[in-house]
Amino acid sequence: MEERGSPDGDPARNLEQGPEGPETPIQVVLRVRPMSAAELRRGEQSVLHCSGTRTLQVSPPGGGPDVAFRFGAVLDGASTQDDVFRACGVRRLGELALRGFSCTVFTFGQTGSGKTYTLTGPPPQGEGVPVPPSLAGIMQRTFTWLLDRVQHLDVPVTLHASYLEIYNEQIRDLLSLGAPRPLPVRWNKTRGFYVEQLRVVEFGSLGALMELLQMGLSRRRSSAHTLNQASSRSHALLTLYISHQTPLPSPHGALILQPQQMPPVDAGELPAGGKLCFVDLAGSEKVVATGSRGELMLEANSINRSLLALGHCISLLLDPQRKQSHIPFRDSKLTKLLADSLGGHGVTLMVACVSPSAQCLPETLSTLRYASRAQRVTTRPQAPRPPKAKPPQHLETELLQLQEENLHLRSQLGQMDPKASGLSGARAAWAQRNLYGMLQEFMLENERLRKEKKQLQSSRDLAHGEQRILAQQVRELERRLLSACYLQQSGPAPPCPCVMVPPLLCHVFGSKAPGDWPLSARPPPWAPPCCPSSAKCSRERSRSEWTQTQVLAEMLTKEKVMPSAPPLPAGPLNASPVLRGGAAVPNLARRLEALRDQIGTSLRRGRSQPPPR
Ligand code: ADP
Ligand code: MG
Repeated sequence: MEERGSPDGDPARNLEQGPEGPETPIQVVLRVRPMSAAELRRGEQSVLHCSGTRTLQVSPPGGGPDVAFRFGAVLDGASTQDDVFRACGVRRLGELALRGFSCTVFTFGQTGSGKTYTLTGPPPQGEGVPVPPSLAGIMQRTFTWLLDRVQHLDVPVTLHASYLEIYNEQIRDLLSLGAPRPLPVRWNKTRGFYVEQLRVVEFGSLGALMELLQMGLSRRRSSAHTLNQASSRSHALLTLYISHQTPLPSPHGALILQPQQMPPVDAGELPAGGKLCFVDLAGSEKVVATGSRGELMLEANSINRSLLALGHCISLLLDPQRKQSHIPFRDSKLTKLLADSLGGHGVTLMVACVSPSAQCLPETLSTLRYASRAQRVTTRPQAPRPPKAKPPQHLETELLQLQEENLHLRSQLGQMDPKASGLSGARAAWAQRNLYGMLQEFMLENERLRKEKKQLQSSRDLAHGEQRILAQQVRELERRLLSACYLQQSGPAPPCPCVMVPPLLCHVFGSKAPGDWPLSARPPPWAPPCCPSSAKCSRERSRSEWTQTQVLAEMLTKEKVMPSAPPLPAGPLNASPVLRGGAAVPNLARRLEALRDQIGTSLRRGRSQPPPR
């Protein structure tokens, strides 16, 4: 037993690091139960000896040569339940199940060899009396470990359990709400073999799971016979289904999905995730040795038949030509439900149990040979892939952004060019095919829209440039016009800013800031700010000034100006013969033309009048 703790020889360590490659052999662990009180009383001899942690020596009572068997781990009669749990490698299976693999632990051996004890501890001492913690089996210990492990995961995990037994070749739901009734086994391509209408219960705590286990154990068929006072008369399968949205990273690269044997949780819904199944096989028995009669004999026959079918499948699986050969999993319900664990995509651990007594030697040798062969059976572990892989978060975000941008660009382009928006029918249909297609489509369309927008922007900039040049020319002409007007009216004295920036504009544009005025109506850059309420300015205005400024304002605002306050003019507003028609100038070019005319006229008039005194 000491060797078990050494780093190199530690079978637990070896199994915990077991290989999950394309082909993984079934892991086999051997447990030798101690001599029972009855066997010792009968004076039976032990014929089994452990040699190291992985080899078992069988010494035939007649003095024949020893036979050695090698397994992943060998646990002798002195091993505790905890030793078995730690050494058998079930935690590795738990980890794999958390990563989405389909894992199976099953006990195998002669009746009374300790299979049920190894998985769930000694039989209950009374109704509702729990197994003492020190005697709890692999199942309870794995439950405790798993629930603890799940609590420390960053992702939320959903757990379900189902529990069934195969009794006389009938499947019975040990968790059914009513009395157990036979359930059919079905097969389909995605799920493989599965039990229809099996109750799958969601649980969230260790206590709840232990209750489910107790419920199943209490309903499971067991009978007393010569070799076992609480002999299981059925094969029992308890399955834990582990599902979570984000698959845990696999230690061996990408996970390949296979939602086989996943029972429906919600009308046809499959929990995509791993599973961990515990199988307690009913033991093979020699009816003569167990003294079974009547119903017991019937049970024994169907147990033996299904175990025979299991043995046959294992033999064929060992055949190197097995790819060509047909494996008769359909021969029994047991082999149907274990098909995936044995020859499919599962990861499997077999705990072979044997009695050390010389009386049981033939069955023990048969079990050992069987277990040795099982070690050579390989599976191709694969983890299920979620039904539809979600796109990565960044792609989703990018898609949303592109959709938004696309909408925005479409509306912009729609305003500028109504023909530009809208996809062609064929492209739209293509885009709908899938998310990635849509993303690509949006990117292409956005690229196209961006280009068009850029072209439109550059032609708009060009127009703006031309407009700016024209506006500059207009301003220059305005300035020259105003100077000419002033010279004509007042002589060469410095002009009042209010003349250059007609006060009427202040009425016309109200309290608007100069920046809000039409370009051509803005004061020249060199003019001081105008004060519309300035009484001094108003008083100083002459009638001719008013006429000039009003006409100019009319021209610049393209409207006929009606003063909002009693104005200065005494004569008719349209008295100016020079600038009439200015309000009708439709655009800058025409206004420019009009201004040129005005200036020419003013200058001509200026020349024809005598210079001011
Ligand atoms: P099986 O399921 O293989 O038919 P059981 O698990 O029911 O056998 O065990 C038969 C009897 O032997 C039970 O009374 C059980 O308590 C006892 N037993 C089995 N294994 C051990 C062990 N390792 N230590 C102590 N008692 C054991
Ligand atoms: Mg049993």
